[in-house]
Amino acid sequence: MTDRGPDATPPYRGRFAPSPTGPLHFGSLVAALASCLDARAAGGEWLLRMEDVDRTREVPGAADAILRALDAFGFEWDGPVMYQQHRAPAYRTALERLLAAGHAFPCACTRRELEAHARPGPEGRIYPGTCREGLPSGREARAVRVRVEDAAVRFQDRLLGPQVQDLAAEVGDFVIRRGDGLFAYQLAVVVDDAEQGITHVVRGSDLLGSTPRQIHLQRLLGLPTPRYLHLPVAVDTRGVKLSKQTGAPPVDPKRPLAALCAALRFLGHAPPAEICSGPLDDFWRWAIDHWSVDRLPRRKSIEVSESPAAR
Ligand code: GLU
Repeated sequence: MTDRGPDATPPYRGRFAPSPTGPLHFGSLVAALASCLDARAAGGEWLLRMEDVDRTREVPGAADAILRALDAFGFEWDGPVMYQQHRAPAYRTALERLLAAGHAFPCACTRRELEAHARPGPEGRIYPGTCREGLPSGREARAVRVRVEDAAVRFQDRLLGPQVQDLAAEVGDFVIRRGDGLFAYQLAVVVDDAEQGITHVVRGSDLLGSTPRQIHLQRLLGLPTPRYLHLPVAVDTRGVKLSKQTGAPPVDPKRPLAALCAALRFLGHAPPAEICSGPLDDFWRWAIDHWSVDRLPRRKSIEVSESPAAR
């Protein structure tokens, strides 16, 4: 981990961390725009991280397509892009520390066993603790899980206010290295946010329920907890989040202003017509000057028509 010292910690360092599972779509443009504007309006830095830790979900060419689209939209990021596929040694170090300290344990349970025996919770099956005190005899380790405590994790979301989750009751000991050997998102994101010195996380509310797990890992690893802001996510008329997986249409980098203005309106801001038809630089200047968290809708989701960028 980089030693920055107290004086070198920037007042604000934000990030956008897309998974390269498809081209940039409206929902991810909203997260990119909000995280970038929040950083720039605070005079802060804004970093990019390609969350390609799960190579099985990666779509070839998607990472480059996302970067090209961000560039065409006029996003400017600080420093080199971090790629999770190169970060395995750092994840391994964190995993080994957790194992050595007794905070993590190997688990033999298969997905099928958990489907059959574990209660469903808000974030998936609640781990029943089967391998917590050691592997059952004759069973082989598959995944590695981190222990959770029987105590509420609380944090203050900058938009949604006080949040609380009882990890033991609602999630259970959770996976930090998967049965297929890949490091889990929860571990990777915590290690990387710390490595990149992220002070503020702005992302979709679909990750609100992951934040207490991330805070738990930060505490076990002695890492700082950034401030969090969870944005409303764009959902379709069925209430399903627009995502690359559900086939949300990509935003058109050839018409950047249409998409950027739609994203800014989605975020509760009202860019004047001339800003949405003039030079890209004018849009960015206006958006940074007028950015205000107070204008963001205090909601977890907002329904949008099929292609909000086309309005
Ligand atoms: N990679 C995640 C996604 O694309 C975002 C993770 C995060 O912002 O913490 O949904």
